[in-house]
Amino acid sequence: MTDPAPDSSTRAAATPGVFGRTVWVDLTTGDVREKEEPASFHRRFLGGSGAALHYLLHEERPHTDPFSPESVLVFAPGLLAGTQGPAVPRYVVCARSPLTGALGRSEAGGYWGPELKRAGIGALVITGHAAQPSYLFVTPDGVEIRSAACAWGLITGEAEEAIRADVGDPAVRVALIGPAGERLVRYAGIVSDLTHFNGRNGLGAVMGSKNLKAIAVRGKRGLAVHDGVRVKEIARAAARLCRQHPLSRLLTDQGTAPGIETNYAAGVLPTRNWRSANFAAADRIGGAVLNEKYLVRRGGCYACPVNCKRVVAVDSDRIKVDSRYGGPEYETLAALGSNCGVDDFEVIAKANELCNMYALDTISAGMTISFAMACFGDGLIGPEDTGGLDVRFGSGDAVLTLIEQIARREGFGDLLAEGSVRAAAAIGRGAEANVVAVKGQEVPMHDPRVKTGLGLQYALAPNGADHWFAQHDPMFATETSPGVRALEPLGLQGLVQTLDLGPPKVRLVWHTSVLNSLYDCLGVCIFGAVARSMTGVNMFADLVAAATGWDTNLRELMQAGQRALAMSRLYNVRQGFGPQDDVLPSLYYTPLPDGPLAGRHAIDRDEFAAAVRLYYEMASWDPKTGLPTAGKMTELGLEGLLDAPPG
Ligand code: SF4
Repeated sequence: MTDPAPDSSTRAAATPGVFGRTVWVDLTTGDVREKEEPASFHRRFLGGSGAALHYLLHEERPHTDPFSPESVLVFAPGLLAGTQGPAVPRYVVCARSPLTGALGRSEAGGYWGPELKRAGIGALVITGHAAQPSYLFVTPDGVEIRSAACAWGLITGEAEEAIRADVGDPAVRVALIGPAGERLVRYAGIVSDLTHFNGRNGLGAVMGSKNLKAIAVRGKRGLAVHDGVRVKEIARAAARLCRQHPLSRLLTDQGTAPGIETNYAAGVLPTRNWRSANFAAADRIGGAVLNEKYLVRRGGCYACPVNCKRVVAVDSDRIKVDSRYGGPEYETLAALGSNCGVDDFEVIAKANELCNMYALDTISAGMTISFAMACFGDGLIGPEDTGGLDVRFGSGDAVLTLIEQIARREGFGDLLAEGSVRAAAAIGRGAEANVVAVKGQEVPMHDPRVKTGLGLQYALAPNGADHWFAQHDPMFATETSPGVRALEPLGLQGLVQTLDLGPPKVRLVWHTSVLNSLYDCLGVCIFGAVARSMTGVNMFADLVAAATGWDTNLRELMQAGQRALAMSRLYNVRQGFGPQDDVLPSLYYTPLPDGPLAGRHAIDRDEFAAAVRLYYEMASWDPKTGLPTAGKMTELGLEGLLDAPPG
């Protein structure tokens, strides 16, 4: 288990520290104000994305330019973040996404969210535009706006060092942007401790637009909870189960990288911009080579018994990779590896390091580069467009050069910094056919043709293609599948086949999308104990009751998950999104092109459309507008939000 600070064992703490106060920072005026939200607020919204969506919906006008001073940027740790609960370190960043124009939402684990909670803060709501590059220094005594002249323009590692030196505290936790965020790359991310990423949706660019380089946090040791003894009991029991469970041990021993070999063997590894699923060099870029040749150590997050992260180093004649920047996970190995046709692990590790140094989302970076490679191969662009660069599949040099160009908005990289959808529109000549995105966000590295529920996730997630909007189909397919036992208390007792797209699959996606929404409010990592059936979901009701002192249960918590989901839907409808945007890329309506599943598993359009309609009915979303019905909003206590939005 990694470095948890002790929970206070004080029983019945007057105001448990898990709540935290809300701090508003206006970077234009320098105004900082704070308040304790009432107990009813915490009980309704919990924390994380529930709290963040409340502030977005109340404080930002629809259609606000994400790069304008009026855009609202919220950082909010999950309700349980900072406790010793098992694998609950996560915090969310929300704002209108500059990539999609829809809800921008990105969670990260690590230590920063728990540190913010231990500084007494449940949400940071940031608006305005600082006249000079700035960073926030957050302590239990308050929030201070400081000059970031020492760090602006620097890569993340150097900037983190500069801010720690400026604060005079080497242990301060720093979430920051790199040069990509400063230059408003539409898929720039935010990184803390150089390895934990809020990667998706371009929220690092929103920070950059506000001239905000970083948020440095120093909290107190420990966090007062209602019943620290009970929290520790639950955490110890979950940690014991994690150590015993084979799936959890596999994540600890191997991390996520073996997904490369697994998906290759299954015939579904995204390859050359999804034109193939048959990357014969998979064994050169997957879990075996990472763990056997390049692993320096395992990494993890606050109070997590799993420790699934990998830290790698490369020190060859050609390539050096600094272990401070962690190591590539499955998504990165596929997006910047097989999907760009690159079969050299050292190049992918370097690409991952560059993305971390510049703070770029590795999925959108890899997918946008693979889009460009597809256009290059099709003759839609040539050397005259790329500044002479040979942008062909398999070129590691092209991948590394383009990451540098994108992050600095130089040359051809300036166009790719806009993301694949905007780049395709600028190129024209049918380049749109090479885009694989939903709501403007490039898809992650999982093929929905063999996981139909994942296809629903891609289509329905408010933040664009997202592989954790709900849970993955294979977890519920056989008696021994990892998700089956954990979710029985939700009434999901039957098995559901991975290729099924009928009512049982829609029911599974509906319930697990609510559950994952709850996880986002609580700060739960999906790789933790519950998702793999080591314990059931009722554990969270026990944990929330112990941390807060509430007499709560799973039903109340799932209602909170539904509340956050309904708010995200409302946010998107206010931005002009609706049912027409809940669609899959047409690629997935065609069969797999090659490999062991060649010619099979095209998703049926009519069946998929019927499944989306059924999900709408379960969620009580209006099929014409996409809005949650007035009845659903009333059930969730959100009826006031159906009145005129702010502005
Ligand atoms: S399972 Fe992995 S990502 Fe999740 S909290 Fe633990 S170390 Fe972090």
